[in-house]
Amino acid sequence: MVKNIMVWQKKVWQEKFWQEKTLDEMNEEEWEALCDGCGRCCLVKLEDEDSGEILKSDIHCKLFDCETAKCLKYEDRQKYVSDCVRLTPAKIKQLNWIPASCAYRRIAEGRGLAWWHPLLCGEGETIKKVGISVVGRTVCESEIKPDEFVDHIAYWPDFEPDER
Ligand code: SF4
Repeated sequence: MVKNIMVWQKKVWQEKFWQEKTLDEMNEEEWEALCDGCGRCCLVKLEDEDSGEILKSDIHCKLFDCETAKCLKYEDRQKYVSDCVRLTPAKIKQLNWIPASCAYRRIAEGRGLAWWHPLLCGEGETIKKVGISVVGRTVCESEIKPDEFVDHIAYWPDFEPDER
């Protein structure tokens, strides 16, 4: 299995499909491979009642695995979390809370992948080193009382560490 993943990563790296295709043109495997695994879209968002502004938090979804930054029920996650947003090319352009560092947003905006993306640097640890990953920096929603959510509003910089 691991070998197959490595072969696949080598294959997509060589083909650089993200340079050749739009998000709409990608097949399912390519679409899934594009996610950098930062976990930022798995954080709870709060809406300001007065302004309607969407605020980010350091609270992660109950299905988020804090060690791997993957969803524990990815395939049928909406069965467990009904308001989980399934990203599509159209939604990437509409949702303003998608971070500027998100690989889907970068491709949609014609900015290409960042050097620290696993498909380019060849491994998944760099995303932690450059501060894009949320791993180790969040708490689970099941541990937070409803009236404490507001205490967890967090600023996640949209900086793009393009400089090595
Ligand atoms: S924010 Fe984008 S790149 Fe990061 S985990 Fe979510 S979908 Fe993947």
